[in-house]
Amino acid sequence: MKVDWLIVGAGFTGAVLAERIASQLNQKVLVVDRRDHIGGNAYDHYDEHGILVHKYGPHIFHTNSQNIWEYLSRFTSWRPYYHHVQAFVEGRLAPVPFNLNSLEALFPKTLAERVERRLIERFGFGAKVPVLKMLDESDADLKELATYVYRNIFEGYTTKQWGLKPEELDPSVTGRVPVFISRDDSYFQDCFQAIPRLGYTEMFRRMLSHPNIRILLKTDYRGVAEEIAFSGMVFTGPIDEYFDYLHGALPYRSLRFEFRNEPTSSFQQTAQVNYPNEHGFTRITEFKQLTGQQSPRTTIAYEYPEAHEPGINEPYYPVPKTEHRERHDKYLREAQRINDGVMFAGRLADYKYYNMDQAVGRALKLFEEICARSQKSVGFTAVSA
Ligand code: FAD
Ligand code: UDP
Repeated sequence: MKVDWLIVGAGFTGAVLAERIASQLNQKVLVVDRRDHIGGNAYDHYDEHGILVHKYGPHIFHTNSQNIWEYLSRFTSWRPYYHHVQAFVEGRLAPVPFNLNSLEALFPKTLAERVERRLIERFGFGAKVPVLKMLDESDADLKELATYVYRNIFEGYTTKQWGLKPEELDPSVTGRVPVFISRDDSYFQDCFQAIPRLGYTEMFRRMLSHPNIRILLKTDYRGVAEEIAFSGMVFTGPIDEYFDYLHGALPYRSLRFEFRNEPTSSFQQTAQVNYPNEHGFTRITEFKQLTGQQSPRTTIAYEYPEAHEPGINEPYYPVPKTEHRERHDKYLREAQRINDGVMFAGRLADYKYYNMDQAVGRALKLFEEICARSQKSVGFTAVSA
């Protein structure tokens, strides 16, 4: 078989690139994925009870990029959805990110009022303050609050999720969920927040439905690369695996999902409830609350974090730490050395904790580079998330 491009991985990164190359450059693309479906980790499907579930954990689309929003809107209409999360702390539920409502839910009234005043005086209403930064505060009330939030919301959850304490990870990880000096209980504050109306997989199906695109599933690229003639390749899988772990394995964190169908129309108050301190799982997601599906039964997923073992479980999360980035840099130098038309992009190849919009932004940017290289002009201009 002869194609212009071989794209490894049918997740966001691979699908966006395939769609752009096929539709804008009119070149032939073969997309291979070793899984038996398209969509990468955003894949969703109907379970045996007829409930639409996210096989690899809850996926909520959110972005501040109008460009990325408009690009994806060519392939789906949306169900507006504002994610709300609660954490189970000392027998009570409180909003996460920790905010002024959480303070009221968990602290005695007079103390909550005093700490609230201090927070607003010190940071201003509407500020977002990472917990690790707040721990440095000298004011006794703020320090006490930071210690409380650290111990009850972050320490146990992060230790389960990553096998590391919050301070052992890049601060950007816990910084994703800063203390929010506000009464807004939304998990994200992005301009655009939604779920594809007919699901992620349907959106991917439309992206990849182009006469220039062929898809081979249940296919590792190594099994076909020799048999296919191609001019360029984009690899969106783990970069360490591509180079046969030449510089050692990059650590990833994996998850085990336990799906349960319950004979009740509603299982919990919010789509996601976090359990920082009890149990082996970190969170429970109720999918109907994301999708708006109506049913007398409901499906929920428990997430149990675990170490990643290549070939045994999936590499879901790159582990952001300086020494891992340095190891990844070594692989990037290998990539530059081979420089024979293989490009690396995506959460696993870039070894970056991308959200979906960032994966799309990265792919659109790479497409611009491909265009610049082939000196073709296209109508679509990409900006990153
Ligand atoms: P992937 O989706 O991982 O796709 C890579 C594909 O490459 C996979 O399908 C894999 O099978 C294939 N592949 C790898 N190696 C090979 C090979 N050798 N041969 C053939 N195929 C191969 N983002 C959000 O914005 N909002 C959320 O709510 C959100 N929730 C998440 C929850 C969880 C539990 C996880 C793990 C991630 C979540 N994300 C979320 C992040 C989101 O999943 C990623 O940003 C996005 O999927 C990245 O797309 P990608 O194409 O780079 O990688
Ligand atoms: N986190 C935490 N407690 C929470 C929520 C998040 O400790 O209740 C920390 C934890 O380290 C987690 C990180 O913040 O991995 C990022 O959270 P996010 O919800 O963004 O994780 P994701 O949805 O990507 O798994």
